[in-house]
Amino acid sequence: MVTEQYSRSTEATPNEGPAYVRSITWGAPAAASAPAPWRSAKLRAMPELPEVETTRRGLAPHVVGRTIARIEVREPRLRWPVARTLPSTLADHRIEGLERRGKYLLFGTDAGTLLVHLGMSGSLRYLPDVTPAGTHDHIDIHFADGGALRFNDPRRFGSFIHTNAPAEHALLRELGPEPLGSDFTAEYLWRSSRHRQVTIKQHLMNGKVVVGVGNIYASESLFRAGIHPSRAAGRIAAARFEPLVAAVREVLRDAIEEGGTTLRNFVGGDGKPGYFRGALRVYERDGQPCVRCAAPIERRVLGQRATYYCPRCQR
Ligand SMILES: [Zn+2]
Repeated sequence: MVTEQYSRSTEATPNEGPAYVRSITWGAPAAASAPAPWRSAKLRAMPELPEVETTRRGLAPHVVGRTIARIEVREPRLRWPVARTLPSTLADHRIEGLERRGKYLLFGTDAGTLLVHLGMSGSLRYLPDVTPAGTHDHIDIHFADGGALRFNDPRRFGSFIHTNAPAEHALLRELGPEPLGSDFTAEYLWRSSRHRQVTIKQHLMNGKVVVGVGNIYASESLFRAGIHPSRAAGRIAAARFEPLVAAVREVLRDAIEEGGTTLRNFVGGDGKPGYFRGALRVYERDGQPCVRCAAPIERRVLGQRATYYCPRCQR
């Protein structure tokens, strides 16, 4: 049954899913031909919590309160096949809220919740006037009073799932606390790390410990907190968790804010969330001087993920 199907995959899905390398960022297909500074940067990234939160904030004013007329699924083969019954289940129901849990968007209706994950390359755009679908435009949610929400996903790792009980759904129920919520405290993170041999960076990136701290954000948070990424989580003193939790929150808040400002809009053709490029202090800066002490930033691979740190500032 559905539960088993997803629970197996949850195991393989920490915060970020498989460690694939992508050469371009996510966003609208129109952007692919447009020269943009973020395209030349070697982005090994996919939508992470800040991008999903930016998407939520960008879309909410356009979709909440709108009634779904019909859902057009052109390509059901996403990470999990889109249920054949999804369109008829949600048609004629109103979107009452748009929430986020980890990297899932939750479109709430009185006929249950639509869980959307952007996967590795997915994006959602609101179209006030529906244009012909392009390549990779897999799903349109048409609204009764015009306009549509369009899902584009070249790599098809995204998902569209209907559930009546989102909190108990296999994909959500084991998620750790929200990093910006009140449950993510220094005390909590310290407790969660006791007797853990795993590195602090991998511990932070474990979605069962805390959601949404992806590779970029883990490196940046540890730099800000002055903690060496390869230290064993269980051997870090309690006092160091206060600055670490503060750093995680700060890095994510900054990224959400930057996403909000670089985001042109989610309406029309080329809305795309911006990555947190401007403020990166260590990520992909190997060989460049540390902003604090000028020592060259180093790169090493931890848990198969590139990790950047200052060998002098981070202990
Ligand atoms: Zn330094």
